Amino acid sequence: MDIDANVFDEPRQARAPRSPDLHGQGATPRRGDAHGERRVPGMVSLVGAGPGDPELLTLKAIRRIEAADAIVYDRLVATSLLDFAPTARRFYVGKARDRHALPQDEINALLVRLAREGERVVRLKGGDPFVFGRGGEEMEYLAAHGIPFEVVPGISAANGIAASTFIPLTHREHAQRCVFVTGHLKDGSMDLDWRSLAVPGQTVVVYMGLAALSVLCDSLVRHGLPGSTPAAIVQQGTLPAQRVVTATLETLATRAIVERLASPTLVIVGEVVRVRERVQAYAAEREALTSLAS
Ligand code: SAH
Repeated sequence: MDIDANVFDEPRQARAPRSPDLHGQGATPRRGDAHGERRVPGMVSLVGAGPGDPELLTLKAIRRIEAADAIVYDRLVATSLLDFAPTARRFYVGKARDRHALPQDEINALLVRLAREGERVVRLKGGDPFVFGRGGEEMEYLAAHGIPFEVVPGISAANGIAASTFIPLTHREHAQRCVFVTGHLKDGSMDLDWRSLAVPGQTVVVYMGLAALSVLCDSLVRHGLPGSTPAAIVQQGTLPAQRVVTATLETLATRAIVERLASPTLVIVGEVVRVRERVQAYAAEREALTSLAS
């Protein structure tokens, strides 16, 4: 298979002996090598890399990365995570500067090829592999080609950012439901069920919503949500460079332009955004009292 220029297969350095199998228990299968040992099939772990902060990686994800022979990773994966596997081959398949990602069918074929070479492959994906991550498609392809696989969940951007911005996704008083949608434009429009999104008592989390932010906010208002509904947009959530802009459905799109927000961003719409504002107000009040007392 021809892998295009977005894929960088960095040469392997001398490899330290590895710990046993992927689960750290049982017999270690002998892996094929240049000395003609019996070739055993490799496997693919679809691993969630979390929303950005490396501390939000799961223990299981770290173990898989450490044990990997090859890592196939995306744009939103922190490259520092690759340091857990200094000797693994690395394949970058995300969008390069020319904005082209490796086509999904080529990523699928790459995973199968590496596994058939006997590699322990980690397919490292931002957030959770099964939340707008095409993990489902990759898993089906692996299954159809008889490649052993597993799925290691990750903290999705919604969960990580809820924590890092103090915006709970559900709340007894404000939101009994939470929906995750993609704001990705299809043929220039958003293909969403607006009537089910524009309802009270619900938090709407929008992935990939920046480009269509004004369409998103206008549509929610047009379908019944008050223009005064609180909304937040968060850039590079959970990372030191995190930026949070809170506004209302009426003002969010303009604020995002004024603040020059850029991808990756996550949008959260709903009364829960006010919880962050209240928490911040309490903190500011306490700080003011403390400085008066000193
Ligand atoms: N599987 C991922 C989502 C992949 S889609 C997950 O579970 O989180 C990519 C989109 O996720 C981005 O366009 C953005 O909307 C969101 N996203 C991922 N990481 C983010 C971050 N650190 N800050 C803000 N948004 C993020």
